Amino acid sequence: MAAHILGEPGPAQRRAVAKAITLVESTRADHRAQADALLTQLLPHTGRSFRLGISGVPGVGKSTFIEALGLFLIAQGHRVAVLAVDPSSTVSGGSILGDKTRMEQLSVHERAYIRPSPSAGNLGGVAEKTREALLLCEAAGHDVVIVETVGVGQSETAVAGMTDMFVLMQLPNAGDDLQAIKKGVMELADLVLINKVDIDADAATRAQAQITSALRLFTQHGRGQPGEAVWRPQVLTLSALQGQGLQAFWDTVASFRASQEASGRLQSRRRQQSLAWMWERIESGLRHEFREQPAVRALLPQLSEAVAAGRLPASTAARQLLAARHTPLSQEPGP
Ligand code: GDP
Repeated sequence: MAAHILGEPGPAQRRAVAKAITLVESTRADHRAQADALLTQLLPHTGRSFRLGISGVPGVGKSTFIEALGLFLIAQGHRVAVLAVDPSSTVSGGSILGDKTRMEQLSVHERAYIRPSPSAGNLGGVAEKTREALLLCEAAGHDVVIVETVGVGQSETAVAGMTDMFVLMQLPNAGDDLQAIKKGVMELADLVLINKVDIDADAATRAQAQITSALRLFTQHGRGQPGEAVWRPQVLTLSALQGQGLQAFWDTVASFRASQEASGRLQSRRRQQSLAWMWERIESGLRHEFREQPAVRALLPQLSEAVAAGRLPASTAARQLLAARHTPLSQEPGP
C-alpha cells in the first residue's frame, strides 16, 4: 500500500489512499496495528503540504468556497485534498458535511481528493482519524490539505490543532461575529473571511471593521514570542459563489505562511500539535482503560450518584475511584 501511496498520482494511488484511510478509521486491533506500521513508514514523506483549517456555521458557504478555491489552486498546479471533521456525525450518525452533492466539480477532479468525516466514535477519535488521513494525503503528494468543520461544539479547536492556519467564515451580518467572539473561536482564527459580500457589501464592510477591532483585542496580548514578527489576523470579504476575492485570499495565505516560516512558528506550531495529540490520545486511552476496570465499573454509579446529590465531595470520589482501579472486586472499599 505504501508504495502506491508514494507512487505516481493516478487511480492506483487514489485507491491506495482510500484503502489506507479506511484502515486508520477501523476500530479492529489488527487494522490498528497495520495502520500504525503504515503511518510510521510514511511519516518521513509527510509535512510538505500547507494545512488549512476552515470553519463556519452551516450555510455560510464552506463547500461553495472550498470548491472554488480548490479549482483555483488546481489551475495553479496544486494538488488539493479536502477532509472534514463533522461532530454531528458522531451524535446522530447523519452528517452536516460531506454529502456527495457538495463540491461537484472538485470531487471528480483527478488532482483533488475529497473524504467525508469519519463517523464513528467521539470527537477526539474522529479528529485523530482525520489527522491521520491528512498525513496519508500528504504522503500521496497533495500540497494543500483543507480540513473543514462546522461551527458548532469543540470541533474548531480540534481542527485548529491540526492545521497551519485556521480560517473562520462569517456571514455579513453583525450578530454572528459577536457570538463567535463569545465562544472563543475568534481567538483561534488566523484569518476571518466574510462571505456573500455580493448580497450586502455595506453590511460586509461593517462586519469587517467590527471584527477587525475585536481581533485587535486578542492580538494585543501578542501571539508568539517577544521580538517575533507577530501575525495580525486579517479580515477579508469574499463572494464564494462568484469566485470573487480568491486571489486576495490566497495572497494573504501566502504572506501568513511566509511570516510563519520566517519566524519558525510554523515548525513550532506543528511540534506542539504533535505532542498535544500524543497526550490527548494517552489521556483518552487511560480514561477508557479506567472506565473498563471491574472495580471502577462497580463503584462508579453509586459514587457518581453521591457526588451529584451533594453527599460526597467530587475530589474524594475521584480519589476513591483512582485507588479502587487496581483492587480486586472482593476487596473494594465502600464509598
Ligand atoms: P456550507 O453549509 O457552509 O457548506 O454552505 P454552502 O456552500 O452549502 O452554501 C450555502 C448556500 O449559500 C448555498 O445556497 C450557496 O449557493 C450559497 N452561497 C455560498 N456562497 C455564497 C456567496 O458568496 N454569495 C451568495 N449569494 N450565496 C452564496
